[in-house]
Amino acid sequence: MGKTISVINQKGGVGKTTTAVNFAASLSALEKKVLLIDMDPQGNATSMSSIKGENFNTIYDMMADPSVKAVYPTKLPSMKIIPCNSDLTGAEIELLGVENREFVLKETLKKLKDKFDFIIIDSPPTLNILTVNNMVASDGIIIPIQCEYFALEGLSRIMETMNSIKSLNPSVEIYGILLTMYDKRVKLTYEVENDVREHFGDLVFDTVIPRNVKLSESPSFGMPILLYDVASIGAKKYLELAEEFLGRIN
Ligand code: ATP
Ligand code: MG
Repeated sequence: MGKTISVINQKGGVGKTTTAVNFAASLSALEKKVLLIDMDPQGNATSMSSIKGENFNTIYDMMADPSVKAVYPTKLPSMKIIPCNSDLTGAEIELLGVENREFVLKETLKKLKDKFDFIIIDSPPTLNILTVNNMVASDGIIIPIQCEYFALEGLSRIMETMNSIKSLNPSVEIYGILLTMYDKRVKLTYEVENDVREHFGDLVFDTVIPRNVKLSESPSFGMPILLYDVASIGAKKYLELAEEFLGRIN
């Protein structure tokens, strides 16, 4: 049975989508069967894939009707994607009237879980019902954080949300906290890193993702970093992350 992992942080622009896409691509490069799901109405992970135009089924369609087919190929043979678009914004309101609204995504993914080694879910920058659905559907979460002021406060809010959903999904784990856009030249980076490692110890991945311009360029070419520039430090580090992750869960 595959493992489902959500990439979560309610703060915007911390590297969730970059991590979801490139972590998924790296696992696929390590010969794992991977499904990436875009659960952010902004649709950034979708535009990082090769899906073009507006004529595609989405995770929103699948949540409304599980018989809808919305699994699409990517440029990597062992990685597939379920895209989304701004329709998903409507789900936030529509779900409010649904019984067991926290379990809709989990139910939707039941049939797919045994077809993949890993299902990676990108989340919106909120802790709303969509993010709760992600947490409930997941075996574990990865939390990317940027080394800046208030990073610890943000982390404790995610932990509180995790605790509050334990009644819905008692076995959800934190697979790791990931330092992103890491810049050795900035003193604050060290200070925040020290604080986070002191508080969260082994929960923090050894691998850190440095600031790398190639990582910010690759989305405009609709590809993960591995296909855009395999020799870049960004590509190396996301591969290293996937290896560290596999070592941890085995
Ligand atoms: P949102 O909350 O809006 O969904 P996010 O948390 O998904 O944002 P990303 O979209 O992954 O964050 O990243 C925010 C911006 O920073 C993007 O322009 C992205 O290309 C860039 N970026 C992310 N990681 C890195 C990195 N390691 N080095 C350089 N740029 C990066
Ligand atoms: Mg994003």
